[in-house]
Formats: sequence, structure tokens, C-alpha cells
Amino acid sequence: MSSPTTAGWFGPFGGRYVAETLVAALDELEAAWRDARADGAFLHELDRLLSTYVGRPTPLYHAERLSDDVARTAGRRAGTIRVWLKREDLAHTGAHKINNTIGQVLLARRMGKPRVIAETGAGQHGVATATACALFGLRCEVFMGELDVARQAPNVLRMELLGAQVHPVRAGSRTLKDAMNEALRDWVTHVRTTHYCVGSVAGPHPYPSLVRELQSVIGREARAQLFAATGRSPDAVVACVGGGSNAMGIFATFVDDPGSSAVRLFGVEAAGHGIDTNEHAATLSRGSVGVLHGAKSYVLQDEDGQILEAHSISAGLDYPGVGPEHSFLRDSGRARYLAVTDSDALAAFSSLARTEGILCALETAHAIAALPRIVAELPERHEGLDVLVSLSGRGDKDLATVRDWRERTGAAS
Ligand SMILES: *Cc1c(COP(=O)(O)O)cnc(C)c1O
Repeated sequence: MSSPTTAGWFGPFGGRYVAETLVAALDELEAAWRDARADGAFLHELDRLLSTYVGRPTPLYHAERLSDDVARTAGRRAGTIRVWLKREDLAHTGAHKINNTIGQVLLARRMGKPRVIAETGAGQHGVATATACALFGLRCEVFMGELDVARQAPNVLRMELLGAQVHPVRAGSRTLKDAMNEALRDWVTHVRTTHYCVGSVAGPHPYPSLVRELQSVIGREARAQLFAATGRSPDAVVACVGGGSNAMGIFATFVDDPGSSAVRLFGVEAAGHGIDTNEHAATLSRGSVGVLHGAKSYVLQDEDGQILEAHSISAGLDYPGVGPEHSFLRDSGRARYLAVTDSDALAAFSSLARTEGILCALETAHAIAALPRIVAELPERHEGLDVLVSLSGRGDKDLATVRDWRERTGAAS
């Protein structure tokens, strides 16, 4: 796999911090993936499903009214910024997560594993995994913190309707990190029959590289689409970062190509109530190096190395870790990471709705909110700047959250 460093390591980040019994399973997965990606029939099947089932390629859309809005807020003249939205919200199930789960479940079937497990916080990855399992007729079991089961009832129902079994996890804080531990424990016990479908560019090697490659279709398509429209590469690429899979997916093609070193990469984390409070999910802005979910990366932890609860209004960014390659890109300076608060994300959600007629996911709204700050960092260009944004998902799932916010804050817009 085309990682910047030796297999499994991104500089000092990544690796495999797992029970001995899982090393063989991770080796098996790595070998199966190496084999599958060299098999034309497998790749053809994956491509076919991405086009006929997922709906790829997703459109690249020039958001003219948003562009002018961003230019104005950044103190630039109208027409000097062109914002391009890569519409992952139009993929089946409404977000980029399906790119990964279709690939991994196809791989599970190839490996002869009849059972797929996943862990989920908000339920979005659980739904994407359940969808892919329904498509292939594989058994699907999803671990979810008991608190999240209560908070995310519509996604629990979706998973069940898709034929998955949802296991509420009662340990610890009864949220995502407890569900992650439970999924790893289950995998240790059932490793012979079970594939563990990890939902982001996190977890032990080979997951960060595997998920990166499955999501890299986003950036490959976007780069070609933008080139067809403008004849050039973007000046900047922007994506929100939870675990970091939609960001890595759109960054990958630019990271791998030395000729693209002038393309600036920006990841946007959730600042929740503010990065100087204890209620945020800004792992790369405020975390420290530690081990979570079987890999070394930046994490939110206390002095004793206990993982802290993350907070964000968007459930998909509410994760106390981040994929190891992002930690590497941060420390090497290849990518820059910013953080956006709940209230700024909500304002961006509304402004995208009003300027472009798109109700985006609250995760995505963080990337939109950061655009004026990002543009202000770019040198002016006479012909105008092209900014490529990963519109990672649609906002239907967030309407109740947005309604509650409007009621709480009395927001009229
Ligand atoms: C899950 C999710 C995210 C965050 O996950 P990444 O792995 O960081 O991409 C972002 N946007 C949407 C719409 C999501 O569902």
C-alpha cells in the first residue's frame, strides 16, 4: 500500500497495539487485501458496486453563491474564490462511509468469513456496515454504547431493519470507546469466523491503510473532475475530521503525488464548546500522543493516560482519537488542522442551506465553517483560487439536533 512510511507506520504513529491472538488475524486481513487488490475480478466487482449501487462517481459541484459568501467573509473580492463541493452526501445511505463498508464486506466474503462485526457511536458506521452485509447476505452484529443506543434510536431501527443485531454495551461510560473495546474483545473470541469492519482510518494496521485506500476514490474522482472543469489542481483541499476517513480519502491522491506538494491540505476538527473547555473533540489541536483502538496517535487523555470523553454537536466527530496518518501529516506539516465550535458549525449548516439548497451533515458543516479562515491563509491569485471541499454527508440524520439547537438558542436563521 502506498503509505508514506513502512507498512503500518506513519512516522512514529500507527502500529498494532493489540492482544497477541489478533496479530494473526491482522496478518490474514493484510494478506487477503494484498491478494484482492491484485485481482482484476475483485476490483471489477468493487467498481461495479460503487457505480451501480453506491452511485459513483458522485458529482463535483461549483458552489457559486457559497463561494461569494466565503470570499466576502474572508475579506476577498467576489469571484476570487471558487468552492467545489465533492458530493458524498449523494452516495447511497447519504455519506462516504459506504465506500469503506462495501469494500470491507466484499473482502470478508472473499475471506470466507460469514459474520461481520462493527462498533458505532452515532450509528452511521453501523448503518453503512449493516447495509453492505444485507447486500451480501452476511450476518452483522454491531456494538454500541448503551447511552448511544438511547440517543440514536433512528439508527438503531435502521440497523435492525437491515437485518443487523445491535448489542448495547453497558461497560464504562457506555459510549463509543466502550463499544470499541467490546468489538475488539468479541473479535479475539470469534476471529476464525468473523471480520471486524473498522469504520475510519483508525485501528491497528492494516486498517488505516485499508480504509484510506477504499476511501481514496473520493479524491481520485474529485481531482479528475476538477481538472476536467478547470484544467488545474485545487489550491486547497478541505475536509472535516472525526477518525479522518473522508479527509484521508480526499487527501490521499495529493499526499501520494510529489507533484501536488503545492496543494494545501486542511482538516477540520470539532471544537465543541471551545478548545479551551473540556468539551471538545479537537484531538490534533489539544490531544497528546497515546494509544487508542490498537494504534498510536494523538488522543484525548488525562495525565494517567485515561481516555477522555469527546464532545461535539455532530456525533460523527465525537471521537477521542484520530487516524495515525493524520497525526503524521500534522507533525510533518503536510496538512494543517483547525477546529470549529458547535455554534459556528450550526451557522455554517444554515448558510449552506440558504446559499446552495443543501442540508449537509453537521460533521460537514465544520468544514464549511472553516472556509473563510482557510481562504485567509491562502495567497491571493489573480485568476482566483480553487478550494475543494469534501461534502461528507447529508443532514437528514441531524434535523432533530438542529431543531433542538434552534429552540435552545432562539435562532431565527
Ligand atoms: C462519520 C462521519 C464523519 C466522520 O468520520 P471520518 O472518518 O472522519 O470521515 C464525517 N462526516 C460524515 C457525514 C460522517 O457520517
